[in-house]
Amino acid sequence: MDFKIVERSFFARIARMVLKSSNVAMVLGNKIHLSGVDGQTFLKDEGWLAHEMCHIRQFKEHGYTRFLWLYFVESVRVGYYNNKYEVEAREAGTKHMRHLAGIKNKAAAKIEPTTLPLPADEKKEV
Ligand SMILES: [Zn+2]
Repeated sequence: MDFKIVERSFFARIARMVLKSSNVAMVLGNKIHLSGVDGQTFLKDEGWLAHEMCHIRQFKEHGYTRFLWLYFVESVRVGYYNNKYEVEAREAGTKHMRHLAGIKNKAAAKIEPTTLPLPADEKKEV
């Protein structure tokens, strides 16, 4: 799938401040916006990458503006953790890790719930 990495992203930095997180990856369309993590480190984290790639697919599937709206409504309705788009992305992330390593991935499970109504995901330091 075609995607771009935006390092030191302004949007991701805002999300990072809101979430009070040390790092954030946030998908807008086919761009993965990063703050607090460089592209190389992010790309090496296959589970995290698979999670964000799932959001890129969701943007493609529903259309840019429509997906932002659907994601927002879902977040307001059930919160971040139970948001069906997050559940799907989380599954994509952990499935990928299991496929790779054949073990349960602890890192992918560390993506914490947030209250930001955008596909912004943080990763706690291990
Ligand atoms: Zn996510």
